[in-house]
Amino acid sequence: MKYLLFVYSFLNLLISLTGCGSDRNANVEDAGCLAETLIEDQVMGTAVHMVLYSDELNKSQLDKAAAEALEEIKRVERLMSSWVEDSDVSRINAAKKGEWVEIDRSTIDVLANAMLIGAITNKAFDITVSPLVDLWGFGAKSKGPFSIPSDEEISEAMRTVGHGKVLLDIGNSAVSLAEEGMTIDLGGIAKGYAVDRALSVLYKNGVDQAMVEVGGEVGVIGKNKDREKWCIGVRHPLKRGNFLTVLELENEFVGTSGDYENFFVVDGVRYSHIIDPRTGRPTTSNITSVTVVGTSCAKVDALATGFSVLQYEDSIKILESLPDIEGIIVRRAGDGELDIYVSEGLRRKIRLLEPATTK
Ligand code: ADP
Ligand code: MG
Repeated sequence: MKYLLFVYSFLNLLISLTGCGSDRNANVEDAGCLAETLIEDQVMGTAVHMVLYSDELNKSQLDKAAAEALEEIKRVERLMSSWVEDSDVSRINAAKKGEWVEIDRSTIDVLANAMLIGAITNKAFDITVSPLVDLWGFGAKSKGPFSIPSDEEISEAMRTVGHGKVLLDIGNSAVSLAEEGMTIDLGGIAKGYAVDRALSVLYKNGVDQAMVEVGGEVGVIGKNKDREKWCIGVRHPLKRGNFLTVLELENEFVGTSGDYENFFVVDGVRYSHIIDPRTGRPTTSNITSVTVVGTSCAKVDALATGFSVLQYEDSIKILESLPDIEGIIVRRAGDGELDIYVSEGLRRKIRLLEPATTK
């Protein structure tokens, strides 16, 4: 592992542009004829990284593909950011109760996917949770940081929470919110969707080796620079600078969620920024890191957030029930110990750098 050279470092993941740490210098002699484009930017209030290689396309074709993919990520931001005044999300949130708002096909696509993930996660993933996130001091509209709200405040905010109160008219690409004061927040799914869209733009341009990352949600096409699988290190939730394992990926997506950067402690109780929409309170799951691997980034992004909310055993059950999804779920078990669950399909593919608990 000591040969690993990680050049991109996000909240939960670290990405290597070269091999996974073997001392073979695989295909380095080929690297010279690869065209390469690297992009770093800030979109959706977070970092965007793109790395493209090709031995078919020339440098300017590759640059053009990257620019188009970046523009697509910015389009998703213009539609789905709560910070953009005339975005679809802002218009939905500003509309009166019961009013139908016409939105872009992409936004309705994300809303429909969000509803699906809500159903899969027993309502743990819920895009209407934002009034609660604000109430607990983690949101954009929070008055002060880290306040514990009263039971009355929580029940008042709960009145506006629930996917059942989001009405979708897929045919007419319109949405309506059923309660006064209701809002939606796509922060748990839009970054993943942006990665999906960017990769699809790259595919269309004939790019067959690429990595795209938006705020810690990652997608890879084909192989890396050394023509090996892409290496994604999963950060150790407790030991800074260490990692739990290294994922080797090809044509796959990784979504993450973690509670170790954003929380507060009052009277020895730790309050996570992940709010359980079913109770109106920060989740008590003690899940500290979730990594989900699959074939759609919107899906793995949202599932990672949903799994953080659910109790450890429930997350594991749902993870194992989804045939196209693999993952790693880590829980704080007290005394600095961790419970680490690796899904069955992933177990034979990775080596944990720390012993796993099987159940
Ligand atoms: P990251 O933003 O680093 O991906 P997470 O994956 O943990 O972090 O997701 C946090 C985002 O999800 C925030 O935008 C937050 O508003 C939103 N969120 C918090 N709780 C929920 C929930 N229960 N359902 C859906 N979204 C949520
Ligand atoms: Mg996430």
